Amino acid sequence: MTTIIIGNSAAGLAAVKSFRKYNQTDELILISKEGGLAYSRVLLPYVLREKLPYEGLFIREKAFYEENKVTYIEKEVKMVDDVNKAVVLTDETKISFDKLILATGSFAVAPPIEGIKQEGIYHMWTKADVDALLPLFATKKKMAVLGSGFVALQGAWAAKTRGLDVTVIELMDRIMPSVLDVKGATILTEKIKETGVVLKTGTVTERFEKLEDGTFKIVLKDQEPVYADFIVVGTGVRCNIGMLEGSGIACDRAVLVNENMETNVAGIYAAGDVAAGPTTFGDVHKVHVLWPTAVEMGEIAGANAAGKKLEYRGSLNMNVTQMYDATVASMGLFNENDIDGSREMPVGEGYLKVCYKDEKVVGVCLVGDSESVSLFGKLRPIIRKGEVIDCEPEKLEQYVNRKAFQTAKR
Ligand SMILES: Cc1cc2nc3c(=O)[nH]c(=O)nc-3n(C[C@H](O)[C@H](O)[C@H](O)COP(=O)(O)OP(=O)(O)OC[C@H]3O[C@@H](n4cnc5c(N)ncnc54)[C@H](O)[C@@H]3O)c2cc1C
Repeated sequence: MTTIIIGNSAAGLAAVKSFRKYNQTDELILISKEGGLAYSRVLLPYVLREKLPYEGLFIREKAFYEENKVTYIEKEVKMVDDVNKAVVLTDETKISFDKLILATGSFAVAPPIEGIKQEGIYHMWTKADVDALLPLFATKKKMAVLGSGFVALQGAWAAKTRGLDVTVIELMDRIMPSVLDVKGATILTEKIKETGVVLKTGTVTERFEKLEDGTFKIVLKDQEPVYADFIVVGTGVRCNIGMLEGSGIACDRAVLVNENMETNVAGIYAAGDVAAGPTTFGDVHKVHVLWPTAVEMGEIAGANAAGKKLEYRGSLNMNVTQMYDATVASMGLFNENDIDGSREMPVGEGYLKVCYKDEKVVGVCLVGDSESVSLFGKLRPIIRKGEVIDCEPEKLEQYVNRKAFQTAKR
Protein backbone atom coordinates (compact mmCIF):
# COMPACT_ATOMS: atom_id res chain seq x y z
CA MET A 1 0.00 0.00 0.00
CA THR A 2 1.32 3.47 -0.89
CA THR A 3 0.28 6.76 0.67
CA ILE A 4 1.31 10.03 -0.98
CA ILE A 5 1.36 13.31 0.93
CA ILE A 6 1.59 16.49 -1.19
CA GLY A 7 3.07 19.29 0.95
CA ASN A 8 6.10 19.59 3.20
CA SER A 9 4.87 22.10 5.76
CA ALA A 10 2.65 22.22 8.84
CA ALA A 11 -0.08 19.85 7.61
CA GLY A 12 2.11 17.48 5.55
CA LEU A 13 4.74 17.04 8.26
CA ALA A 14 2.12 16.46 10.96
CA ALA A 15 0.50 13.89 8.66
CA VAL A 16 3.83 12.03 8.34
CA LYS A 17 4.28 11.78 12.11
CA SER A 18 0.74 10.70 12.72
CA PHE A 19 0.73 8.19 9.85
CA ARG A 20 3.86 6.52 11.19
CA LYS A 21 2.44 6.42 14.72
CA TYR A 22 -0.26 4.06 13.50
CA ASN A 23 1.39 2.41 10.51
CA GLN A 24 5.10 1.57 10.39
CA THR A 25 5.08 -0.60 7.29
CA ASP A 26 3.26 0.98 4.31
CA GLU A 27 5.14 3.04 1.77
CA LEU A 28 5.01 6.80 2.40
CA ILE A 29 5.95 9.34 -0.28
CA LEU A 30 6.05 13.10 0.35
CA ILE A 31 6.10 15.46 -2.63
CA SER A 32 6.82 19.18 -2.36
CA LYS A 33 7.45 21.84 -4.97
CA GLU A 34 9.25 24.24 -2.63
CA GLY A 35 12.92 23.34 -2.52
CA GLY A 36 15.17 22.84 0.49
CA LEU A 37 14.45 21.96 4.08
CA ALA A 38 10.97 22.42 5.52
CA TYR A 39 10.53 25.82 7.14
CA SER A 40 7.88 27.72 9.07
CA ARG A 41 6.06 30.52 7.28
CA VAL A 42 5.05 31.88 10.71
CA LEU A 43 8.70 32.72 11.39
CA LEU A 44 9.30 34.67 8.17
CA PRO A 45 8.48 38.11 9.69
CA TYR A 46 10.83 37.36 12.62
CA VAL A 47 13.69 36.79 10.17
CA LEU A 48 12.87 40.04 8.36
CA ARG A 49 12.89 41.81 11.72
CA GLU A 50 16.22 40.16 12.58
CA LYS A 51 14.62 38.74 15.71
CA LEU A 52 15.53 35.27 14.46
CA PRO A 53 18.56 34.16 12.46
CA TYR A 54 17.80 32.84 8.99
CA GLU A 55 18.69 29.26 9.99
CA GLY A 56 15.98 29.47 12.66
CA LEU A 57 13.35 29.18 9.91
CA PHE A 58 13.99 25.50 9.35
CA ILE A 59 11.84 23.07 11.31
CA ARG A 60 13.03 19.59 10.20
CA GLU A 61 16.42 18.00 9.62
CA LYS A 62 16.97 15.71 6.61
CA ALA A 63 17.07 12.82 9.11
CA PHE A 64 13.34 13.29 9.78
CA TYR A 65 12.46 11.66 6.44
CA GLU A 66 14.78 8.71 6.99
CA GLU A 67 13.58 8.20 10.55
CA ASN A 68 9.99 8.15 9.35
CA LYS A 69 10.74 6.02 6.27
CA VAL A 70 9.53 8.72 3.88
CA THR A 71 10.58 8.96 0.24
CA TYR A 72 10.93 12.71 -0.39
CA ILE A 73 10.40 14.02 -3.93
CA GLU A 74 11.08 17.68 -4.69
CA LYS A 75 8.74 18.20 -7.65
CA GLU A 76 5.48 19.92 -8.46
CA VAL A 77 2.27 17.93 -8.81
CA LYS A 78 0.29 19.20 -11.78
CA MET A 79 -2.63 16.79 -11.70
CA VAL A 80 -4.44 14.38 -9.40
CA ASP A 81 -6.19 11.51 -11.16
CA ASP A 82 -8.66 10.36 -8.54
CA VAL A 83 -10.16 7.65 -10.79
CA ASN A 84 -6.90 5.82 -11.58
CA LYS A 85 -5.39 6.85 -8.21
CA ALA A 86 -2.24 8.55 -9.45
CA VAL A 87 -0.57 11.96 -9.25
CA VAL A 88 1.13 13.44 -12.30
CA LEU A 89 4.21 15.64 -11.82
CA THR A 90 5.15 18.57 -14.08
CA ASP A 91 7.87 16.37 -15.64
CA GLU A 92 5.03 13.95 -16.59
CA THR A 93 6.10 11.29 -14.07
CA LYS A 94 3.07 9.35 -12.84
CA ILE A 95 3.04 7.95 -9.30
CA SER A 96 0.25 5.65 -8.15
CA PHE A 97 -1.24 5.78 -4.68
CA ASP A 98 -3.69 3.88 -2.54
CA LYS A 99 -4.23 6.84 -0.19
CA LEU A 100 -3.53 10.52 -0.84
CA ILE A 101 -3.23 13.48 1.55
CA LEU A 102 -3.48 16.95 0.01
CA ALA A 103 -1.53 19.41 2.18
CA THR A 104 -0.74 21.99 -0.49
CA GLY A 105 -1.55 25.12 1.53
CA SER A 106 -2.30 28.47 -0.04
CA PHE A 107 -0.65 31.14 -2.17
CA ALA A 108 -0.68 34.93 -2.00
CA VAL A 109 -2.88 36.82 -4.44
CA ALA A 110 -2.82 40.39 -5.73
CA PRO A 111 -5.85 42.57 -6.52
CA PRO A 112 -6.38 43.64 -10.15
CA ILE A 113 -4.62 47.01 -9.98
CA GLU A 114 -2.73 48.40 -12.99
CA GLY A 115 1.01 47.77 -12.74
CA ILE A 116 0.82 45.43 -9.74
CA LYS A 117 2.64 42.59 -11.51
CA GLN A 118 6.18 43.85 -12.07
CA GLU A 119 9.65 43.59 -10.62
CA GLY A 120 9.94 45.45 -7.35
CA ILE A 121 6.50 44.36 -6.12
CA TYR A 122 6.54 41.34 -3.80
CA HIS A 123 4.44 39.15 -1.56
CA MET A 124 5.50 38.00 1.89
CA TRP A 125 4.22 34.43 1.87
CA THR A 126 7.12 32.09 1.08
CA LYS A 127 10.79 31.72 1.90
CA ALA A 128 11.53 32.75 -1.69
CA ASP A 129 9.64 36.01 -1.06
CA VAL A 130 11.71 36.67 2.05
CA ASP A 131 14.93 35.78 0.20
CA ALA A 132 14.04 38.54 -2.26
CA LEU A 133 13.04 41.02 0.47
CA LEU A 134 16.02 40.60 2.83
CA PRO A 135 18.54 42.50 0.64
CA LEU A 136 15.97 45.27 0.07
CA PHE A 137 15.34 45.61 3.82
CA ALA A 138 19.11 46.03 4.22
CA THR A 139 19.67 48.61 1.46
CA LYS A 140 16.48 50.52 0.58
CA LYS A 141 14.82 53.45 2.35
CA LYS A 142 11.11 53.42 1.56
CA MET A 143 8.64 50.55 1.51
CA ALA A 144 4.93 50.62 0.80
CA VAL A 145 2.59 47.85 1.89
CA LEU A 146 -0.72 47.16 0.21
CA GLY A 147 -3.21 45.71 2.68
CA SER A 148 -3.35 45.79 6.47
CA GLY A 149 -4.06 42.21 7.51
CA PHE A 150 -2.06 40.12 9.95
CA VAL A 151 0.80 39.34 7.55
CA ALA A 152 0.91 42.79 5.89
CA LEU A 153 1.18 44.58 9.24
CA GLN A 154 3.89 42.19 10.41
CA GLY A 155 5.83 43.05 7.24
CA ALA A 156 5.37 46.77 7.84
CA TRP A 157 6.52 46.40 11.46
CA ALA A 158 9.58 44.42 10.38
CA ALA A 159 10.56 47.14 7.89
CA LYS A 160 10.01 49.90 10.44
CA THR A 161 12.19 48.17 13.03
CA ARG A 162 14.89 47.88 10.33
CA GLY A 163 14.78 51.69 9.90
CA LEU A 164 12.78 52.00 6.68
CA ASP A 165 10.09 54.60 6.04
CA VAL A 166 6.88 52.63 5.71
CA THR A 167 3.46 53.52 4.28
CA VAL A 168 0.56 51.08 4.61
CA ILE A 169 -2.29 51.54 2.13
CA GLU A 170 -5.62 49.91 3.00
CA LEU A 171 -8.81 49.99 0.97
CA MET A 172 -11.12 49.44 3.94
CA ASP A 173 -11.71 52.05 6.63
CA ARG A 174 -10.08 49.93 9.34
CA ILE A 175 -7.24 47.48 9.81
CA MET A 176 -7.36 43.73 10.49
CA PRO A 177 -11.12 43.01 10.36
CA SER A 178 -10.64 39.25 10.61
CA VAL A 179 -8.27 39.46 13.59
CA LEU A 180 -9.45 42.40 15.74
CA ASP A 181 -12.75 43.99 16.70
CA VAL A 182 -13.27 47.71 16.10
CA LYS A 183 -11.89 48.84 19.48
CA GLY A 184 -8.85 46.58 19.27
CA ALA A 185 -8.17 47.81 15.74
CA THR A 186 -8.44 51.44 16.90
CA ILE A 187 -5.94 50.86 19.73
CA LEU A 188 -3.52 49.10 17.39
CA THR A 189 -3.94 51.86 14.78
CA GLU A 190 -2.75 54.40 17.38
CA LYS A 191 0.22 52.21 18.26
CA ILE A 192 1.14 51.83 14.59
CA LYS A 193 1.01 55.58 14.04
CA GLU A 194 3.12 56.21 17.18
CA THR A 195 5.92 54.17 15.59
CA GLY A 196 5.95 56.49 12.59
CA VAL A 197 4.40 54.08 10.09
CA VAL A 198 2.08 56.07 7.81
CA LEU A 199 -1.27 54.30 7.73
CA LYS A 200 -3.73 55.25 5.00
CA THR A 201 -7.05 53.48 5.51
CA GLY A 202 -10.07 54.02 3.23
CA THR A 203 -7.64 54.57 0.36
CA VAL A 204 -8.13 53.39 -3.21
CA THR A 205 -4.95 52.50 -5.10
CA GLU A 206 -5.35 53.32 -8.80
CA ARG A 207 -2.02 52.17 -10.26
CA PHE A 208 1.65 51.46 -9.68
CA GLU A 209 4.00 53.43 -11.95
CA LYS A 210 7.66 52.49 -12.24
CA LEU A 211 9.82 55.64 -12.42
CA GLU A 212 13.03 55.95 -14.44
CA ASP A 213 15.22 55.30 -11.40
CA GLY A 214 13.39 52.01 -10.72
CA THR A 215 11.38 53.32 -7.76
CA PHE A 216 7.59 53.49 -7.67
CA LYS A 217 4.91 56.15 -7.74
CA ILE A 218 1.70 54.74 -6.28
CA VAL A 219 -1.25 56.69 -7.64
CA LEU A 220 -4.12 56.96 -5.16
CA LYS A 221 -7.69 58.15 -5.72
CA ASP A 222 -8.25 61.75 -4.49
CA GLN A 223 -4.96 61.75 -2.58
CA GLU A 224 -1.33 62.68 -3.13
CA PRO A 225 0.70 59.76 -4.53
CA VAL A 226 2.97 57.66 -2.34
CA TYR A 227 6.59 57.03 -3.41
CA ALA A 228 8.42 53.83 -2.54
CA ASP A 229 11.58 51.91 -3.45
CA PHE A 230 9.68 48.63 -3.34
CA ILE A 231 6.24 47.33 -2.46
CA VAL A 232 4.84 44.40 -0.52
CA VAL A 233 1.35 43.19 -1.39
CA GLY A 234 -0.44 41.53 1.52
CA THR A 235 -4.04 41.36 0.39
CA GLY A 236 -4.98 37.74 0.96
CA VAL A 237 -4.45 34.17 -0.11
CA ARG A 238 -6.15 31.39 -2.11
CA CYS A 239 -5.99 27.64 -1.66
CA ASN A 240 -3.59 25.64 -3.84
CA ILE A 241 -6.17 23.47 -5.63
CA GLY A 242 -5.12 23.98 -9.27
CA MET A 243 -3.91 20.38 -9.54
CA LEU A 244 -7.44 19.12 -8.76
CA GLU A 245 -9.02 20.65 -11.86
CA GLY A 246 -10.91 17.97 -13.78
CA SER A 247 -10.87 15.58 -10.81
CA GLY A 248 -13.97 14.46 -8.94
CA ILE A 249 -12.68 15.85 -5.62
CA ALA A 250 -15.27 18.29 -4.29
CA CYS A 251 -13.97 21.83 -3.82
CA ASP A 252 -15.50 25.19 -3.07
CA ARG A 253 -12.43 27.45 -3.21
CA ALA A 254 -10.95 24.89 -0.78
CA VAL A 255 -11.11 21.09 -0.63
CA LEU A 256 -14.19 20.04 1.34
CA VAL A 257 -13.41 17.53 4.08
CA ASN A 258 -15.39 15.78 6.81
CA GLU A 259 -14.37 15.29 10.46
CA ASN A 260 -11.88 12.56 9.35
CA MET A 261 -10.33 15.04 6.90
CA GLU A 262 -11.57 12.80 4.11
CA THR A 263 -12.85 14.29 0.87
CA ASN A 264 -15.85 13.01 -1.07
CA VAL A 265 -13.46 10.49 -2.70
CA ALA A 266 -12.71 7.60 -0.32
CA GLY A 267 -9.03 7.38 0.58
CA ILE A 268 -8.24 10.97 -0.44
CA TYR A 269 -7.76 13.40 2.44
CA ALA A 270 -6.93 17.10 2.74
CA ALA A 271 -5.50 19.12 5.63
CA GLY A 272 -4.27 22.62 6.43
CA ASP A 273 -4.83 25.84 4.50
CA VAL A 274 -6.09 23.93 1.47
CA ALA A 275 -8.91 22.24 3.38
CA ALA A 276 -12.30 23.50 4.52
CA GLY A 277 -13.28 21.45 7.55
CA PRO A 278 -15.32 21.57 10.77
CA THR A 279 -14.85 24.29 13.39
CA THR A 280 -15.37 24.55 17.17
CA PHE A 281 -18.54 26.52 16.47
CA GLY A 282 -20.22 23.90 14.32
CA ASP A 283 -19.32 25.17 10.84
CA VAL A 284 -19.10 22.18 8.52
CA HIS A 285 -16.68 23.59 5.98
CA LYS A 286 -14.49 26.54 6.89
CA VAL A 287 -10.90 27.43 6.00
CA HIS A 288 -8.67 28.73 8.79
CA VAL A 289 -5.31 29.82 7.42
CA LEU A 290 -3.51 28.98 10.64
CA TRP A 291 -0.47 26.91 11.55
CA PRO A 292 -1.98 25.07 14.58
CA THR A 293 -5.10 24.19 12.56
CA ALA A 294 -2.91 22.80 9.77
CA VAL A 295 -1.01 20.66 12.29
CA GLU A 296 -4.18 19.36 13.91
CA MET A 297 -5.80 18.58 10.56
CA GLY A 298 -2.59 16.92 9.34
CA GLU A 299 -2.55 14.67 12.40
CA ILE A 300 -6.13 13.56 11.75
CA ALA A 301 -5.56 13.02 8.01
CA GLY A 302 -2.35 11.04 8.66
CA ALA A 303 -4.04 8.81 11.23
CA ASN A 304 -7.04 8.05 9.04
CA ALA A 305 -4.85 7.36 5.99
CA ALA A 306 -2.90 4.93 8.20
CA GLY A 307 -6.06 3.07 9.11
CA LYS A 308 -6.75 4.58 12.55
CA LYS A 309 -10.19 6.21 12.63
CA LEU A 310 -9.82 9.62 14.31
CA GLU A 311 -12.24 12.54 14.28
CA TYR A 312 -11.30 16.22 14.37
CA ARG A 313 -12.88 18.19 17.21
CA GLY A 314 -12.95 21.28 14.97
CA SER A 315 -10.68 24.22 14.35
CA LEU A 316 -10.62 27.23 16.66
CA ASN A 317 -9.29 30.30 14.88
CA MET A 318 -6.50 31.93 16.88
CA ASN A 319 -3.90 34.56 16.03
CA VAL A 320 -1.18 35.70 18.41
CA THR A 321 1.74 37.91 17.52
CA GLN A 322 4.03 40.58 18.86
CA MET A 323 4.05 43.78 16.85
CA TYR A 324 4.22 47.53 17.41
CA ASP A 325 5.37 46.86 21.00
CA ALA A 326 2.18 45.01 21.89
CA THR A 327 0.78 41.53 21.91
CA VAL A 328 -1.99 41.38 19.34
CA ALA A 329 -4.22 38.35 19.59
CA SER A 330 -7.70 37.03 19.06
CA MET A 331 -9.59 33.77 18.92
CA GLY A 332 -13.07 32.55 18.26
CA LEU A 333 -15.95 34.95 17.72
CA PHE A 334 -15.50 38.59 18.68
CA ASN A 335 -17.41 40.75 16.20
CA GLU A 336 -20.68 42.24 17.47
CA ASN A 337 -22.90 40.34 15.00
CA ASP A 338 -21.61 36.96 16.15
CA ILE A 339 -21.93 37.34 19.93
CA ASP A 340 -24.57 38.07 22.60
CA GLY A 341 -22.29 40.39 24.57
CA SER A 342 -18.81 41.00 25.89
CA ARG A 343 -16.84 42.08 28.97
CA GLU A 344 -13.61 43.97 29.13
CA MET A 345 -11.32 42.26 31.64
CA PRO A 346 -9.25 44.40 34.02
CA VAL A 347 -5.85 42.89 33.23
CA GLY A 348 -2.50 44.61 32.87
CA GLU A 349 -2.01 47.41 30.37
CA GLY A 350 -4.16 47.39 27.29
CA TYR A 351 -7.34 45.86 26.08
CA LEU A 352 -8.76 42.38 26.58
CA LYS A 353 -12.35 41.67 25.60
CA VAL A 354 -14.00 38.35 26.43
CA CYS A 355 -17.06 37.59 24.30
CA TYR A 356 -19.91 35.28 25.10
CA LYS A 357 -22.93 33.72 23.45
CA ASP A 358 -25.53 31.40 24.99
CA GLU A 359 -23.64 31.79 28.33
CA LYS A 360 -20.48 30.33 26.82
CA VAL A 361 -17.23 32.13 26.24
CA VAL A 362 -16.85 32.15 22.46
CA GLY A 363 -14.07 34.59 21.75
CA VAL A 364 -11.33 36.91 22.96
CA CYS A 365 -9.73 39.99 21.49
CA LEU A 366 -6.50 41.41 22.87
CA VAL A 367 -4.11 44.28 22.32
CA GLY A 368 -2.04 44.24 25.46
CA ASP A 369 0.88 43.06 27.51
CA SER A 370 2.15 39.74 28.83
CA GLU A 371 -0.26 39.69 31.82
CA SER A 372 -3.28 39.71 29.52
CA VAL A 373 -1.74 37.01 27.31
CA SER A 374 -1.74 34.63 30.26
CA LEU A 375 -5.53 34.89 30.62
CA PHE A 376 -5.91 34.64 26.85
CA GLY A 377 -4.14 31.28 26.84
CA LYS A 378 -6.23 29.93 29.69
CA LEU A 379 -9.46 30.74 27.85
CA ARG A 380 -8.58 28.59 24.81
CA PRO A 381 -9.58 25.20 26.25
CA ILE A 382 -12.70 26.74 27.79
CA ILE A 383 -13.86 28.04 24.41
CA ARG A 384 -13.07 24.72 22.76
CA LYS A 385 -15.10 22.75 25.28
CA GLY A 386 -18.02 25.17 25.05
CA GLU A 387 -18.48 25.26 28.83
CA VAL A 388 -21.40 27.28 30.20
CA ILE A 389 -19.95 29.74 32.75
CA ASP A 390 -20.67 33.05 34.45
CA CYS A 391 -19.18 35.74 32.25
CA GLU A 392 -18.97 38.44 34.98
CA PRO A 393 -15.29 39.52 34.91
CA GLU A 394 -14.50 38.53 38.53
CA LYS A 395 -16.25 35.18 38.37
CA LEU A 396 -14.80 34.43 34.98
CA GLU A 397 -11.30 35.16 36.19
CA GLN A 398 -11.77 32.99 39.30
CA TYR A 399 -13.17 30.20 37.14
CA VAL A 400 -10.39 30.43 34.59
CA ASN A 401 -7.68 30.41 37.26
CA ARG A 402 -9.26 27.49 39.11
CA LYS A 403 -9.47 25.56 35.84
CA ALA A 404 -5.85 26.34 35.01
CA PHE A 405 -4.84 25.23 38.53
CA GLN A 406 -6.77 21.95 38.16
CA THR A 407 -5.18 21.30 34.76
CA ALA A 408 -1.70 22.06 36.11
CA LYS A 409 -2.23 19.60 39.00
CA ARG A 410 -3.23 16.75 36.64
C1 LIG B 1 4.30 35.65 6.90
C2 LIG B 1 3.32 34.67 7.49
C3 LIG B 1 3.03 34.73 8.85
C4 LIG B 1 2.13 33.84 9.40
N1 LIG B 1 1.88 33.93 10.73
C5 LIG B 1 1.05 33.05 11.30
C6 LIG B 1 0.83 33.07 12.71
O1 LIG B 1 1.38 33.91 13.44
N2 LIG B 1 0.01 32.13 13.25
C7 LIG B 1 -0.61 31.18 12.47
O2 LIG B 1 -1.34 30.35 12.99
N3 LIG B 1 -0.43 31.14 11.13
C8 LIG B 1 0.39 32.03 10.53
N4 LIG B 1 0.59 31.99 9.18
C9 LIG B 1 -0.16 30.99 8.37
C10 LIG B 1 0.53 29.62 8.39
O3 LIG B 1 1.86 29.76 8.01
C11 LIG B 1 -0.21 28.67 7.46
O4 LIG B 1 -1.54 28.52 7.94
C12 LIG B 1 0.47 27.31 7.40
O5 LIG B 1 1.75 27.44 6.81
C13 LIG B 1 -0.37 26.32 6.60
O6 LIG B 1 0.33 25.12 6.50
P1 LIG B 1 0.01 24.09 5.32
O7 LIG B 1 0.87 22.92 5.60
O8 LIG B 1 -1.44 23.90 5.18
O9 LIG B 1 0.46 24.82 3.96
P2 LIG B 1 1.78 25.57 3.54
O10 LIG B 1 2.58 25.99 4.71
O11 LIG B 1 1.34 26.63 2.59
O12 LIG B 1 2.61 24.48 2.74
C14 LIG B 1 2.16 23.97 1.51
C15 LIG B 1 3.12 22.91 1.02
O13 LIG B 1 2.57 22.34 -0.18
C16 LIG B 1 3.56 22.30 -1.20
N5 LIG B 1 2.85 22.41 -2.49
C17 LIG B 1 1.88 23.27 -2.85
N6 LIG B 1 1.44 23.01 -4.09
C18 LIG B 1 2.14 21.94 -4.53
C19 LIG B 1 2.15 21.20 -5.74
N7 LIG B 1 1.32 21.48 -6.75
N8 LIG B 1 3.02 20.18 -5.86
C20 LIG B 1 3.86 19.86 -4.86
N9 LIG B 1 3.90 20.54 -3.68
C21 LIG B 1 3.05 21.55 -3.52
C22 LIG B 1 4.48 23.47 -0.88
O14 LIG B 1 5.75 23.27 -1.44
C23 LIG B 1 4.51 23.42 0.66
O15 LIG B 1 5.46 22.48 1.10
C24 LIG B 1 1.49 32.86 8.59
C25 LIG B 1 1.79 32.79 7.23
C26 LIG B 1 2.69 33.69 6.69
C27 LIG B 1 3.02 33.61 5.23
